[in-house]
Amino acid sequence: MPDWLKTGWRHVWLPYAQMQTAPLPAAVVRTLGSKIFLADGKVLVDGTASWWTACHGYNHPHIKQEVAAQLEAMPHVMFGGLAHEQAYRLATRLAGLMPPGLERVFFTDSGSVAVEVAIKIAVQSRLNKGERGRNKILAFSGGYHGDTIGTMAICDPDEGMHSLFTGLLPEHPVIALPRDAASIAAFDAFLESNAHRLAAIITEPLVQGAGGMILHEPEVLRRLRRAADRYGLSLIFDEIFTGFGRTGTMFAYQQADVAPDIITLSKALTGGTLPLAATIASAALFSDFLSDDPQHALMHGPTFMANAMGCAAANASLDLFETEPRVAQAGRIEAQLMAELAECRALPDVVDVRVKGAIGVVQLAKIADPAGLRGRFIEQGVWVKPFGNVVYLTPALTISEDELTQLTGAIRSVLGAV
Ligand code: PMP
Repeated sequence: MPDWLKTGWRHVWLPYAQMQTAPLPAAVVRTLGSKIFLADGKVLVDGTASWWTACHGYNHPHIKQEVAAQLEAMPHVMFGGLAHEQAYRLATRLAGLMPPGLERVFFTDSGSVAVEVAIKIAVQSRLNKGERGRNKILAFSGGYHGDTIGTMAICDPDEGMHSLFTGLLPEHPVIALPRDAASIAAFDAFLESNAHRLAAIITEPLVQGAGGMILHEPEVLRRLRRAADRYGLSLIFDEIFTGFGRTGTMFAYQQADVAPDIITLSKALTGGTLPLAATIASAALFSDFLSDDPQHALMHGPTFMANAMGCAAANASLDLFETEPRVAQAGRIEAQLMAELAECRALPDVVDVRVKGAIGVVQLAKIADPAGLRGRFIEQGVWVKPFGNVVYLTPALTISEDELTQLTGAIRSVLGAV
C-alpha cells in the first residue's frame, strides 16, 4: 500500500461511505483510454468512465493539449466583469447544440449546482412576473438531481433522505412518472389540483441514473411537455447523466423530439477531465429577468464559474464529438451490451437486464455486500462499482470491443459464482 494512502486514510472522508466499515479504496497511479493502472501493478478495464464522465476515455491527447495550452495562457479569471474566449465560445457552441430557443448558458462547477440554478431560474422567473406562490418543483420517484440541500429535496425521497432531513429540506412533490394508465391518471389528477403551486417539472430524460438506472419511453417526455404547456410550467431536463451520447443520441431529449425550457449539463461536458456544469435556459425565461429593477437579476455566481481550463476541456471535447464518431460508438456499444449481457438473465438473483445506448444494467433482487462484489470485480481485472441493487456498465464511448467483452464477461462470471 502506498504511504500516501496509509497516512491519508486517517484524514479523508469518502463519498457515500460508512467509514466504519468502508474498505480501502484501490490506489490509482495513472489512467489511459479505458484502463486504470493501480499502485500494486494491477490494470483494470474501466466499466464506469469515472461516474459517467470520461466519454472519450482517459487522457485523450486533444483534451490534454488544449487544457495544457490554457493553463499556460490563463488558468482562471473571475467571470464577473472579466471575459475569456473559452467560455464565450463554449456558450455559443452549446447553444448551437440545443433545441431552438434554448440559448442562454449559465456556467457552474458541479451538476448539483447546475440544478440549483435551474430551480432558481424557474422560480424567480415567476416572482419577476409578480406571480406569487409558485415555488414548488414537481419531481419523480426514482429521480436523482444532486446532493446539495436544494437538489436532495427533488430526488427520490429515499435517495434524498427526505424523512431523515425533515425540517431542513424544502418540500417539493415527488410522484410516479406518468408511464402507465394508473400513474398517468395520478399525474393528471395531481396537476389538476396542484399546478397553481408549481413553477416547473423536472426529470432526467429517458434514464433515471443514480436512482437505479431506470428507463422510460420517449412518450413519457412528450406527456410532460404537453402537461407543462397546458399549465404554463417550465420543463427542466436534467441531462447531466444522459447528455453527450450516453443514450445513443447526443442528448436524450432528441429521441422524444421535445424541447424543454431548461437543460442541465455536467459530467461528460469536459470529457471527464475537469469540473464544469451548465444550465441552459430558453430565451423566454431569460427575458423574464430583464428589468429596470436590480432585484430581478439572477443572483448567482460561483467563484470558479466558467473556469477557463474547464471551458477549454469542454471545447476540446466538443471538437472530438465533431471529428470522431462518438454517437455511432454508443450505438455499437448498445448492440454489444445487448448481445453479451443477455445471458445474465439466467443467473441467480438477476431480476432484469436492460440496455439503453452505452448503458448496460443487470438488476439483482438485492446486493447484500456491494463492497465485496466490487472486490471480486477487481480480482477479475475490471472496475465495476455496483450500487443499490444494480450492477451496471457505462464505459467510455471509445472502449474497444475486446475491453467491453472483458467487462461483460466479468459480470457474467462474478454474478454466476455468487
Ligand atoms: N443530476 C444527475 C442526473 C446526476 O446523475 C448527477 C450526479 N450523479 C447530478 C445531477 C449531480 O451532479 P454532481 O455530482 O456533479 O453535483
